[in-house]
Amino acid sequence: MQKGNINVQTENIFPIIKKFLYSEHEIFLRELVSNAIDASTKLEKLVRLGKADVELGDMTIEVKLDPAKKQIKVIDKGVGMTEEEVKKYINDIAFSGAEEFVKKYSGKDEAEVSGIIGHFGLGFYSSFMVSKKVEIDTLSYEKDAKPVKWSCDGSPEYSITASKKKARGTIITLHLDDESLEFNEESRVLSLLNKYCRFLPYPIRFGDEEKSVPVEGKTDKDGNPEYKTVKQPRIINNPEPAWKKSPAELKDEDYNSFYRELYPMTFEDPLFHIHINVDYPFNLTGILYFPKLKKNFEVQKDKIQLYSNQVFVTDNVENIVPDFLTLLHGVIDSPDIPLNVSRSYLQSDSNVKKISNHITKKVADKLEELFKNDREDFEKKWEDIRVFIRYGMLSDETFYERAEKFALLKDLDGKHFTFEEYKTAIEENQTDKNKKIVVLYASQPDEQYTYLEAAKNKGYNVLLMDSVIDTHFVDFLERKHENISFKRVDADIIEKLIEKDEDKLESKLQEEDRKKVEEWFKGAAPDGIMMQVQMEPLSEDKEPLQLIQPEFLRRMKDMSAVGGMDYMQGMGDSYTLVVNENHKLITDLADTVDEEKRNTLLNQLLDLALLSQGLLKGQKLSEFIHRSVDIIK
Ligand code: ADP
Ligand code: MG
Repeated sequence: MQKGNINVQTENIFPIIKKFLYSEHEIFLRELVSNAIDASTKLEKLVRLGKADVELGDMTIEVKLDPAKKQIKVIDKGVGMTEEEVKKYINDIAFSGAEEFVKKYSGKDEAEVSGIIGHFGLGFYSSFMVSKKVEIDTLSYEKDAKPVKWSCDGSPEYSITASKKKARGTIITLHLDDESLEFNEESRVLSLLNKYCRFLPYPIRFGDEEKSVPVEGKTDKDGNPEYKTVKQPRIINNPEPAWKKSPAELKDEDYNSFYRELYPMTFEDPLFHIHINVDYPFNLTGILYFPKLKKNFEVQKDKIQLYSNQVFVTDNVENIVPDFLTLLHGVIDSPDIPLNVSRSYLQSDSNVKKISNHITKKVADKLEELFKNDREDFEKKWEDIRVFIRYGMLSDETFYERAEKFALLKDLDGKHFTFEEYKTAIEENQTDKNKKIVVLYASQPDEQYTYLEAAKNKGYNVLLMDSVIDTHFVDFLERKHENISFKRVDADIIEKLIEKDEDKLESKLQEEDRKKVEEWFKGAAPDGIMMQVQMEPLSEDKEPLQLIQPEFLRRMKDMSAVGGMDYMQGMGDSYTLVVNENHKLITDLADTVDEEKRNTLLNQLLDLALLSQGLLKGQKLSEFIHRSVDIIK
């Protein structure tokens, strides 16, 4: 037997590993199984290159739990290691990684470290996070190799002895420590395997499962087969996930069934998929899905899984996938994404940037293809994808340039237009006297009905802009296009929404009376509503009062609600009351001398205007109803 110290300067490294890796202990299993995969891949390569003369046979990797002994074993039939290799790769090399880690982070605050550490990959040594002792039994594939046993109890001391192992490959045995007995539970280990190993490229067996199978040649009297229960190896993974296959091999059904394999709790099919397959200048494969959105636009940002050579890494792909695409679902696999670095470093990594740009480009390509090949179908899907696309246009300039061609606007009749098409369609009727094209939109057609009617009477078209980010989007389009302005239909009286050179009407009110009426209405503004009064000589048959919500302030407020600008949140809504100086009731009001009569008329008119904007509530509403009844009497 040989003894020696692991080649490391840092005094007892294990307590430090344990402390810092606290929240991520479970990754030990991912690391050990990955090593088993690596060892198997290496051997297969050597055989293919004619450099190893062995029969590969069944390469299934096995994870075994022995609860009585509190042991976990990971068993592979890969390359194995000679004694030289154990010394070189386990004692020296592997530890330098751990050492580097400790040097770098031991002075830092724990929370900060645990964020980084998840992807550090201490590899083999992460097994000491959960074990009081670790053993390696290994037999190299090389001719005449002798089996070796390496053992270490968590101090820098290790021993190497002869092993009894007969078959090629490696067995890693963990003796779980008392704080880690959660990993002595079958269900816990199974869930870890399902999380990290679901798509590893070799079959992974974890114990047995019972299955009901028909007995050959035996049927009951109705001709139904008889069943018996048998034990079968439980294989926990799918070694050939769809993203590793060539798109030509796969049909839509295959993509959909892979979607369901990824998200077993999702019942709806995705809208469409994008298969990514690049091997130069970086390696990137994957399938992204556009999910069907729920009504309430609940956006989930953790539905894309990142893999590295089929090993699950994370479902937090921030900084790797462009922000707007984190709303998609699916899988991305790239060994070229550095995993051992902090998130902020990722952002500046040039490979990651290229990958991110490539993904954006692929998504734009696919959308453009769908738009060009089958516009009708694209329009049907538009409802579900518009949030992604608008968010993408807002946040990513390259995507904006691509998406301008296929992003759609929908009007209240359900007709779809690209931006250019829409501009052409409304240009003639909706250009104002300053040569600006005015785009009208509604956010809640039901509540803005009166205003919509007014627009319709003028022959104006109105767009539907009813999703959470639309105010931002409208603001953005306005900045992108000169000579276009967007106004919500209730942002002004129809004469001013799109101002044209029309003769201004004479006012029927004397200057003195105008002032008087204006003051009365100002004084009557209900509590909690900011209300400006604006006197206008409109046609007699227009409403006496109209309550509008000026575009600018309303937009600021809407945008702050989405964008988290809290300081605007407390602000009440701001309205303008437009008084039609030429309506008979307004001229009557000016002429009414009896104060009580006048107040009744004034309040009745104002309440009707408030009612039309849904602003009459509580006591005010009750007063209005009583007053109305009195008037009818
Ligand atoms: P990495 O996998 O990043 O190289 P690890 O710490 O996980 O780092 O492993 C260190 C080295 O130990 C591996 O590179 C490999 O040479 C060797 N090794 C670990 N596990 C096995 C195994 N199951 N079979 C063969 N060699 C192994
Ligand atoms: Mg490894």
